[in-house]
Amino acid sequence: MFCEECGKEVHDEAVVCVHCGCALKKSIVKTSPQKMFIAPFSFDGRIRRFEYGLSFIIMYISALSIGFFIGYTGMEEGVMYLLLIPVYWFMWAQGSKRCHDRGNSGWFQIIPFYSLWMFFADGELSDNEYGSNPKGLNYN
Ligand SMILES: [Zn+2]
Repeated sequence: MFCEECGKEVHDEAVVCVHCGCALKKSIVKTSPQKMFIAPFSFDGRIRRFEYGLSFIIMYISALSIGFFIGYTGMEEGVMYLLLIPVYWFMWAQGSKRCHDRGNSGWFQIIPFYSLWMFFADGELSDNEYGSNPKGLNYN
């Protein structure tokens, strides 16, 4: 690549130009993004904001449907809690992966209002200790 300041050729991995000393900007390349909902009950890996948002809607609809189902059929309330286990499992798993996307431990989601932040905050670019960028964004 070439330095933007002096125009001389520099090494591709260089962060500073050896000719003029200015900082070289890192460019971002996009590779194919990760498919959504590939392991919805796993606590490993990373997911993007959009998948997290969808997960929240899915959880909400599932929990409501279970509630209506129990109310409508007049079943024991205990059955409802049993049916809600996979729903909450799913939401905690998805939450963990969103925390990972931001480079944090999955436990961060128990911080009050942190899940709200997870709807909007950008994930870390490139790979981190939890996996590769789910949008396929990496440093060149
Ligand atoms: Zn230069």
